[in-house]
Amino acid sequence: MAGAVSEFMERIVAKNPGEIEFHQAVEEVVESLMPFIDKHPKYRKAKILERICEPERVLMFRVPWVDDSGEVQVNRGFRIEMNSAIGPYKGGLRFHPTVYLGILKFLAFEQVFKNSLTTLPMGGGKGGSDFDPKGKSDLEVMRFCQAFMSELFRHIGGNTDVPAGDIGVGGREIGFLFGQYKKLRNEFVGVLTGKGLGWGGSLIRPEATGYGATYFAAEMLKTRNDSFAGKTCLVSGSGNVAQYTIEKVLDLGGKCVTVSDSTGHIYDERGIDRTKLAFIMDLKNTRRGRIKEYTDKYPEAVYTPMDPDLGYNPIWNHKADCAFPSATQNEINEKDAANLVKNGVYVVSEGANMPSTPEAVNVFLDKKILYGPGKAANAGGVATSGLEMSQNSIRLTWTREEVDNRLRGIMKAIHDQCVEYGTDGKFVNYVKGANIAGFVKVADAMLDQGIV
Ligand code: NDP
Repeated sequence: MAGAVSEFMERIVAKNPGEIEFHQAVEEVVESLMPFIDKHPKYRKAKILERICEPERVLMFRVPWVDDSGEVQVNRGFRIEMNSAIGPYKGGLRFHPTVYLGILKFLAFEQVFKNSLTTLPMGGGKGGSDFDPKGKSDLEVMRFCQAFMSELFRHIGGNTDVPAGDIGVGGREIGFLFGQYKKLRNEFVGVLTGKGLGWGGSLIRPEATGYGATYFAAEMLKTRNDSFAGKTCLVSGSGNVAQYTIEKVLDLGGKCVTVSDSTGHIYDERGIDRTKLAFIMDLKNTRRGRIKEYTDKYPEAVYTPMDPDLGYNPIWNHKADCAFPSATQNEINEKDAANLVKNGVYVVSEGANMPSTPEAVNVFLDKKILYGPGKAANAGGVATSGLEMSQNSIRLTWTREEVDNRLRGIMKAIHDQCVEYGTDGKFVNYVKGANIAGFVKVADAMLDQGIV
């Protein structure tokens, strides 16, 4: 089996040179799928694996715009339309200086399986730009978003490709992008999700990824007759996913003791209560400041700056029960995973996409902890985007309670699929479960639709 995986991976690496995050994401999926495909030769015969790793379409384009000092800036825009077997392409836009083809292809690839798991009819896509919104004025962000949409609008549409937010793309950016799309197309349609509540957005969409990752963790805990009551949790990041994870953990009776941004992390042993969470939301969403400022307001907390030379991230070296990585890819390495387990963590629910390196994942699987990979645990965000699309189509809005109930039901359904496909004896391997369950629906649709 290892031979078949490495032969497959050699071809992927040769065909997609330098795209290391894409290689990593494909390898993890192929390792789970190869034994399953051996038992179901119809998938091999139709070369489903080869086809699912090749994007249906890759768009790359120039995004020129003018900054506040009158200088011309040039960024690069992308949209990866990965797979439309079960629905229109769906997946977020990321604005971050590290963005390049390899990161967006990994995210688009993961999205195909994730969207399939949600039980909703959505294909997979992802896009973004190497634009850095940090330190830019609102007007600069607006001009960039308008320039970006001036090209993207040709390729997307309510029944074709429906982008959403991701790192660096929140409500402000979705507003500017939607405004420009509407102007260019002269139509008011649900072409983006994460919209404002007054113009087509869904209640619970901003909360959905963090809430969903917490619901998924609660489902995992339930398999051991356990709950969040009294649990201590580590959370990384302080953006959209981190904020609503902290809120839902509080609702369910736990406490979060960490948050971070790219410059460092906060450890607040007493726990981040609702007042402190409101401070973080204002700091990050309105004032757009750095997380270090938390200690100015709450001096009992400790700030530790990020040190890339350390070889591990100290945020993962505190005593706790659960961890919610909610910042970015590969933020937990093998040493971090060992530190987590050593400090008592036995639940890891990934709000971020691929936050654990393959070596870290192996630590979690070897130690048989409750480990929910991103494509299952953070699927609540895109699932609620799917619910936003449904509401746009029927031109009705559902109540907060209705959307939240549907989200909770979807997270339970995703958990059930992981258990169905990932149970090995008494242990649930959620990686295997998510990969196989996500694959089957897409692969069968591809078989039905012929060689296209
Ligand atoms: P935000 O932009 O709202 O927040 C991102 C947070 O992560 C910030 O605190 C940011 O710090 C930190 N961060 C980003 N890049 C790095 C880095 N290279 N090193 C250290 N810290 C970093 O993004 P989201 O909360 O929306 O997304 C977080 C993660 O969740 C991503 O992996 C995303 O793909 C995933 N996700 C998001 C979904 C959503 O609905 N938003 C859905 C599913 C997954 P700083 O401000 O300093 O950059």
